[in-house]
Amino acid sequence: MRLITFDEGRVGRLDGDDVIELDVPSTRAYFERDGKAGETGERLKLADVRLRAPITPKKFFHTAGNFADHHEELQAVNWSHPVHKGIVFFQNVDAIIGPDDPIVYPEHLTKELDYELELAVIIGKPGKFFGPDEALEHIAGFTVFNDITARDIQRREMESGVFSFSKAIDTFCPIGPYIVTADEIDDMQNLAMQLRVNGDVRQTGHTKQMRVSIPHLVAYHSPQVFSAGDIITTGTVSGVAAVQPNPFDFYLRPGDVVEAEIEGIGTLRNHVVSWQDAHGEPAPEKVDW
Ligand code: MG
Repeated sequence: MRLITFDEGRVGRLDGDDVIELDVPSTRAYFERDGKAGETGERLKLADVRLRAPITPKKFFHTAGNFADHHEELQAVNWSHPVHKGIVFFQNVDAIIGPDDPIVYPEHLTKELDYELELAVIIGKPGKFFGPDEALEHIAGFTVFNDITARDIQRREMESGVFSFSKAIDTFCPIGPYIVTADEIDDMQNLAMQLRVNGDVRQTGHTKQMRVSIPHLVAYHSPQVFSAGDIITTGTVSGVAAVQPNPFDFYLRPGDVVEAEIEGIGTLRNHVVSWQDAHGEPAPEKVDW
């Protein structure tokens, strides 16, 4: 099933080019009810609805360091600390945006706006302290995540061995375009991944390259307690702008269109806009000390 949130937060499932509205207040509630949701009887054309971020989770476990090639490319640019595969922090859920929503460039905060294509796992059944063998029972579906990152801020944060602000700024968390339920994915470790900027391929990878398998990753983080609808991300693949020999030719700029695609899951498209275009006024002064 392809589960969507649309218009003013209505929930539906896709049926070809149609949307079948479901009688449930949110996709999170859908998972809290273990997928038991009737239909309202409304059928709409997909082309006539506005897709929104497919879910607002209670918790968003943001992991990193799971792809060896990305890990190695980052070492080559001399981060002060390695990004180990077990790293996790909580992503700011108020930074979530949906498909075709603008990524707002905060020019007063960063000059190094980067992209990171990732597979995001949606938890269905709540749980804690379970092992990899049980993890499949808890994985309800998948969506695409573009981990927008201000690299200059991240570089400063990492001098303390942590990062969060650089990835938690308003609009830095595009997810979508929908949730594909796990029953539709034959092998979650066999999905091609590609990110494009203005049509140019920037990142290419494959979920088989993960150092830690998805069930193992989900189980590893389960002592932090999963609620229905929680998201856990799985790290990005090589090809981010920061590691290019000439990164400033690759960092995102207003006007850019980013397409993050994962085989079988979908394509998440967002465009970058200036602060002025988004807010109708210049970016404010940076608050600093
Ligand atoms: Mg990331």
